[in-house]
Amino acid sequence: GKQEQPGTIQLYNRNMSRDENERQAMLTDLREAIAGRRLSLVYQPQFDSFSQELTGCEVLLRWHCPKRSFVSPAEFIPLAEANNLMSAISAFVVEQASLELQQSGLLGQQVQRVSVNVSAMEFSNPALMENLLTRLRANESLYPYLQLEITETAALSDLGGSVKLLAELRRQGLKFSIDDFGTGYSSLMMLKELPIDEIKIDRAFIHDMLDQPKAIAIIETLASVARKLGISVVAEGVETEEQLQRLKDCGCHEVQGYLLARPMKIAEFVTFLQRGSPS
Ligand code: C2E
Ligand code: CA
Ligand code: CA
Ligand code: CA
Repeated sequence: GKQEQPGTIQLYNRNMSRDENERQAMLTDLREAIAGRRLSLVYQPQFDSFSQELTGCEVLLRWHCPKRSFVSPAEFIPLAEANNLMSAISAFVVEQASLELQQSGLLGQQVQRVSVNVSAMEFSNPALMENLLTRLRANESLYPYLQLEITETAALSDLGGSVKLLAELRRQGLKFSIDDFGTGYSSLMMLKELPIDEIKIDRAFIHDMLDQPKAIAIIETLASVARKLGISVVAEGVETEEQLQRLKDCGCHEVQGYLLARPMKIAEFVTFLQRGSPS
């Protein structure tokens, strides 16, 4: 490693690009934030498209770093993956979600399904998965309501292994959703092979549906195939009434997006649910 030779550190630093310097600085701050439990969670409700009743929620991680204000998980999760921090992050997510949802009184009451994101690297790494599962089992009250969101790419890296793993974990009571569905190269094969409970149609399709008839045709087909296979369909990134209407016409039974509700802190989620479903 570079740090074994003190004389080379300076040279390395000088040659590092600004991006690389910033990456290292962010990594240091992220490590401290994890250790100090200064990450937080928000919950985004999911609804039945037709009745507008709550069907579940997705847990999303937030990092409000004092130095850099808001850092997107799309930015810091890959950094965590590359630096062996995913287990610590997932442990935080599972424990904090379990705590907040229980203390709020929502768990098992208004909230019957809690979706947690599993990163691609975590899903395809047996040691990381074992860590995650241990953590999930330790949080007994959350466990029965859990659904894990994985991506097609993660499942594809070892399809045979994924099929076995999913089958076994579903026997143990966990539910699975395929996130960003339709963005992979073999989505239909995934649908055919993987034992799953739900697909989440990627928001790119929802975004395109109003001006691209092809996007509507694809959503309609996915919803129909999934229904025949007994798999739930959630449309993500629903931002307009028109999209919602079209999604209903497509037979898409569940929706998530800014139109219905933004991701919110647990206290806001409680208030939101006290006021009743949007409509
Ligand atoms: P994702 O799993 O696809 O999550 C959905 C993203 O869409 C979230 O972004 C959410 O805030 C955003 N979103 C929700 N409704 C709308 C909408 O109507 N329009 C638009 N444009 N966006 C909407 P967020 O929270 O920034 O998360 C980004 C990604 O970071 C997530 O994508 C997920 O891959 C990852 N991530 C977030 N939290 C976690 C976590 O706890 N663990 C892991 N492994 N990954 C996470
Ligand atoms: Ca997700
Ligand atoms: Ca997604
Ligand atoms: Ca995504």
